[in-house]
This record gives sequence, C-alpha cells and structure tokens, in this order.
Amino acid sequence: MIDLHTHSNASDGTEAPAALVASAVAAGLRVVALTDHDTTLGWAEASEAARHTDLALVPGIEVSCGRGRGSLHLLAYLPDPTHPELVAELERARESRDSRLDRMVGKMAAAGVPVSIEAVRAEVEPGATPGRPHIADALVRAGVVDHRDEAFTRWLSDDSPYYVSHYAPDPVRAVRVVRAAGGVPVVAHPSSRTRTGTVGDVLIEELAAAGLGGLEVRHRDHEEADVRHLTDLAAQLGLFVTGSSDYHGTGKRNRLGENTTDPEVLERIEAEGTGTDVVRS
Ligand code: AMP
Ligand code: ZN
Ligand code: FE
Ligand code: FE
Repeated sequence: MIDLHTHSNASDGTEAPAALVASAVAAGLRVVALTDHDTTLGWAEASEAARHTDLALVPGIEVSCGRGRGSLHLLAYLPDPTHPELVAELERARESRDSRLDRMVGKMAAAGVPVSIEAVRAEVEPGATPGRPHIADALVRAGVVDHRDEAFTRWLSDDSPYYVSHYAPDPVRAVRVVRAAGGVPVVAHPSSRTRTGTVGDVLIEELAAAGLGGLEVRHRDHEEADVRHLTDLAAQLGLFVTGSSDYHGTGKRNRLGENTTDPEVLERIEAEGTGTDVVRS
C-alpha cells in the first residue's frame, strides 16, 4: 500500500515524524509520503526512522496556495529542500501564518472564547508550521470542546468571523517553483468542500499548462461523482491520479492507507522528481 499524503507535528498532525513512520509500518504501508504544511522540518527525523524499517519514505510538502478568496493545497514530492525560491516561499507563508495565529486568537479572546495565545503556542512544536488546528488543540486541552472538529464547526471555519487569511503564493507560481526545485506538483483534494471554493476545472487546466503532474483524486472529502469527474479531467490533461489518506494522527478521523496510489504512479513521480531521493533502507 502506498499512501502519499500525511502530516506530523512538524505541522498540524499529532504524531512526531518517527512515530508517524511507526504508525505507517503498523498500518501495513509499503510507502508513505510525509507532506507537512509549508515545511520540510520533519523530513530528517522521518528519514532516519524509515531507514530502520522496510517502509520507503517519500519526502514531500503540502504547499498552501491562494488566489482571490479561494485556497488550493499543492502537494510537492521530492523537491530540493534547499532551493532558494522554494525556501523563501515556505518561510514567507510560515511567518504570515504565525502573525495570523495572533490575530485569530486575539479576535476570539476579545469575543469571550476562553483561549489565549500562550495556550495556543504551547500546542505548536518548536519550528513547526502553526495553523488553526493548534487553536483547536488549546480548546480541547482546556476542556472547552471534545475534538478539533467541534472547534472548527464553532469558531474556526473559513466563513467564521474570527477567520484571518495568511500569505500564500498563487498556485501557478507554486507549480513553477516546485518544478524548478525538481519536485513533482499534485493538486491535493481538488473537490474538497471544507475550504473556500473547490478548485475549478479551468484553474486545473491552467496549472496543467504550467507543469502540474497530477491530481489527488481518491480522498475522503470527495464524493463518487467527484472521483469520476476528476479521473476524466486528469486523462484529458495528461495528468496522473493519486489516492491518499491525509492522515493527521488523532487530529482527524482519516486512517493511514484508507486511500492509496498505484505503484506505476509512484514510479512516474520518482522518475520526474529530481530534487531529493526516496528514502529506503
Ligand atoms: P490552516 O492551515 O490554519 O488554514 O488550517 C487548515 C487545516 O486544518 C487543514 O490542513 C485541515 O487539515 C485542518 N482542518 C480543517 N477542518 C478540520 C476539522 N473539521 N477538524 C480537524 N482539522 C481540520
Ligand atoms: Zn492539515
Ligand atoms: Fe490539505
Ligand atoms: Fe493535508
């Protein structure tokens, strides 16, 4: 089983990278990609852990992108983690996410939600990419809600009055930067309705022309009709298709290996990805 989309506590997953590797082995995966939001921080620990197992690790990133009010998540497989343009984009996004955390928590506290910036920061590992799930974690720890889901429903959704956006590159620019870094770009969960706007076919065509490699078609947030539509669209545009869990540890209900990617697709990603290598024992 090949699962190409997971998160560790280098962003908003709940497991350390080595623990995530252990969970992937226990789940019976043969290959796992670590794709934390806007960071490569977890790669070293996950690689070291994977070297002691039969599991192959695909180093990746889930790059936050934005256009207008819409957001898009771009998975990047095997990019060079030292490529200056890529490093600069990721740093800019993380810094913006950091000040945005202050602003969101400030708005919530001012409205009487029992949360403080100190409590939220305590949920973020040093150097990790901060996000809304860390605000949720502080509320869970304080006993205000039982799970991240409830905090998202009550206060953290994209249309909430407390929502604040953060810097994110235009997706066409992100596709170009990922390719320049030797990475393989894939649009994550294009039809997910949990974010502002799904990713339209016209934008996917534009990204395909800019160098997009594939679409993440099989994902928990997609309906059967989405899977059919995206599979057809990918075939028309010469894109490959993937399936993944988007595992976040206990932070989401997604289970490792609940959606998987075909070995031939992984071969194509490995052939096109020249920025770094798949880690094998
Ligand atoms: P942010 O990156 O700060 O904009 O927060 C979005 C992240 O929160 C995404 O990566 C999702 O995985 C996560 N998320 C969104 N909705 C939920 C939810 N209902 N429960 C748990 N996590 C969520
Ligand atoms: Zn996430
Ligand atoms: Fe995502
Ligand atoms: Fe994700």
